[in-house]
Amino acid sequence: MRWVSLLAGTPLPRPDYVPLRDSLSIARWMAKILGNAGTPHLYTFPSSAVGLCQAACEAGIALRGAHFTLAGEPITAARLATIRAVGAEAAPRYACAEASIVAEGCLAPAAADDLHLLHDVHALVQPGPDVATPGLPAGALVISSLRPTAPLILLNVSLGDQAQLAHRECGCPLERLGWTTHLHTVRSFEKLTAGGMTFLDRDLIRVLEVALPARFGGGPTDYQLQEEETRDGRPRLRLLVHPSVSPLDNDAVADAFLEAIGGGSGVERVMELHWRQAGLLRVERGAPLAGTTGKILHLHQQGRATGRSDPRSAT
Ligand SMILES: [Zn+2]
Repeated sequence: MRWVSLLAGTPLPRPDYVPLRDSLSIARWMAKILGNAGTPHLYTFPSSAVGLCQAACEAGIALRGAHFTLAGEPITAARLATIRAVGAEAAPRYACAEASIVAEGCLAPAAADDLHLLHDVHALVQPGPDVATPGLPAGALVISSLRPTAPLILLNVSLGDQAQLAHRECGCPLERLGWTTHLHTVRSFEKLTAGGMTFLDRDLIRVLEVALPARFGGGPTDYQLQEEETRDGRPRLRLLVHPSVSPLDNDAVADAFLEAIGGGSGVERVMELHWRQAGLLRVERGAPLAGTTGKILHLHQQGRATGRSDPRSAT
């Protein structure tokens, strides 16, 4: 992109690599832009923004007037509160590789992830807003493309997400453009998303049911991944190993897990490295938690009532 920008005579700045643990240098850059009466605008994952704002807060850097656009992970009230604590504002964006941008953040939001559906580009319907239908939980979103120029023509495709759809008068500029359908509380029901990285349930289940027991012992229900959000909005992943499994080196288990999930295409490798760098995973000994039905689920997520061991993904 930079080469093309140079050829076009409108050079983009040279990119600088910043490790995930060094988000303070980005906070300092944002503070510098604010000091020059500019508005820094960062497009990033919610958990990365939370980490950046916490680092800024600890270093006494105010980011009043800074803007974030957040996508790729749930945007929760706790995450938003941590971002607002340093004076910054954040708007969500709902997008995916298959459909591009689906919805843009409301500027007079009634929920942490209040969005305006771009209904001239996509049709979004729910097979059952309040009740589950075969293969889909309540509130599942099914999307269709409305433009022949769509990168991929989708017809009633489940993106693996559920949300609440509503019509509401918010009075924000996006409504005045004609986008009047809101959606909020967008959550995945068949993917694990943490630190901006997304894995399909079935890939994780392969690792938890087959790869880890084969290497360290125990059975398919002795390993469980628990996703949590800390009070300040940071994602946390705990890999729970049943105490009946023989004594283990926790670091070796964490290493084997990350190695196994990174074993797919280049994309999985990138996600593995990102999780490693973010230090998201912690291995603990304890009995895996049972779901509401009494079944041991491989993924135990806050706010996710039921897990699914047979995900149907169109992506
Ligand atoms: Zn709005």
